[in-house]
Amino acid sequence: MRSEILAFKKLLEERRRKVKIYASSISSKDSATFFLIREGYRRKLAIIYPSKNPLDLCTIFFSEEEGDLNGSLSYKICPCNAQNARELRRIFPYTKPAPIGLAPAIGTGDRIGMATPGHIRALRAARNAGIKVFPVLAQQSAREMKRTLRSPQEVIDDVTWAVFQESYRDGFAADADHLKTEEDVRAAFSAGFTMYTIDPSDYVDYEADNCPLHILEEKFNQLPWGILKSSKEEMIKRYVGKSFEVKDLNGRPSLKLSFSREDLLRAAVKYSSAIAHALKLKKLLDDLFKGERYDLELSVDETDAPTKPIEHLFIALELKRLKINLQSLALRFVGRFEKAIDYIGDLEEFERTFQIHALIARNFGPYKLSIHSGSDKFSLYPIMGRIAGDIIHLKTSGTSYLESLRIVARHDPSLFREIVKFSIESFEKDKASYHVSVDPTQAPPPEKVPDERLEETYLNNNEMRQILHVTFGSILSARGENGKWIFKDRIKKTLLDREEEYYKVISMHIRKHIESLWQIKD
Ligand code: ZN
Repeated sequence: MRSEILAFKKLLEERRRKVKIYASSISSKDSATFFLIREGYRRKLAIIYPSKNPLDLCTIFFSEEEGDLNGSLSYKICPCNAQNARELRRIFPYTKPAPIGLAPAIGTGDRIGMATPGHIRALRAARNAGIKVFPVLAQQSAREMKRTLRSPQEVIDDVTWAVFQESYRDGFAADADHLKTEEDVRAAFSAGFTMYTIDPSDYVDYEADNCPLHILEEKFNQLPWGILKSSKEEMIKRYVGKSFEVKDLNGRPSLKLSFSREDLLRAAVKYSSAIAHALKLKKLLDDLFKGERYDLELSVDETDAPTKPIEHLFIALELKRLKINLQSLALRFVGRFEKAIDYIGDLEEFERTFQIHALIARNFGPYKLSIHSGSDKFSLYPIMGRIAGDIIHLKTSGTSYLESLRIVARHDPSLFREIVKFSIESFEKDKASYHVSVDPTQAPPPEKVPDERLEETYLNNNEMRQILHVTFGSILSARGENGKWIFKDRIKKTLLDREEEYYKVISMHIRKHIESLWQIKD
């Protein structure tokens, strides 16, 4: 370690303060040295700088402690708060999220706000093995933020500090996931998100799948034609009786899709208002970004029925016509994508339909296929990788929360039992917005499970993983009568006590995802 940091360490030791220095974070700017430290359970930013002429870049940080180190050097210790995170992003631009474009990507959401160093290590390991995938280290849906009581700014700031901690300088993105309203978009923009996943599902007309023709015609007449910049007649002319050729990877015709009048009406009624809503939010984003680049995704994944190829084609063509340029599109695929467990469904059917969707995305975009609820789908990754590894955006989030609980199960069994019990009790209330199929009454009561079996029983079992997964919000936001967190702080302390083991567990799990999807081909 550098002499000035050793002097700093010695000074604090003389004052009987126990401080951990994050050696990986040590970074220089002009003649100042910046690094992270942890005192007790608090992480802080330390800066050492020349006493004579403190640089502007040092004075802008808000500090809670300042002092003299050795006459010629001074130090300051600053809280890891929002103001200092903002300054850090200015001085070290690699701590700031950036757009991805069309590069394959993995989103690693993190509900506790501490897993990012593990994600970064997974990425570095994969990169050393020759796999290049762009990380979306900050990724949180509006719903997750509501449930964990985290603000968009906290999500970004936690990642900023973690990126600095690991000196990760190869770029990352920040995905504001499942945004439904203008208000969601504005909040994400002011926090500095670079990727916007618009979820127009409130405007998808699910009745269009099965309603009688005369109702369908009526609904079609009432679409927001003005916003859609088209008339009914024009739309019919664009699609009905036309066939659309889908080419394979070698540019050879592989499939023809054509719309009957009914196909068109069903697809148009189902998705046009959603597309109109997406257009409205996209215009707002264009206004906010003023020509600067950002990534845009549209998510229509949270529906009951799988997206049909012809529906996908309709969405792609309409987006193109309306100049909504997507980097990724989230469809609903066949089979079940339940949270944090492997795929449930027919692999051959998945492969066949996925192949078609991938070709549509290539021919009529190009954009990436975004895989939501993407964690732990180990039986699908080789298929996805083989067919479309270059155009995949995989989203994971809850799985990192579950992996965090492994550390709790191992090192604080009684806290883990409390979490399991509370999760089982909260499951019925929390499962509403998720696609899960578990009966919580079948869960083994935690008080009957011995310490050494806790991890196996609850974290390596599909049903229990789902129960623990969907109840993250209840756990992370539960407060006691005294207003204090019931679980959150204790979970964080347990993770900090075992910081390296925690990062390793997270890193191994995410690395497994990356390496099974983006296997190196020989
Ligand atoms: Zn989703």
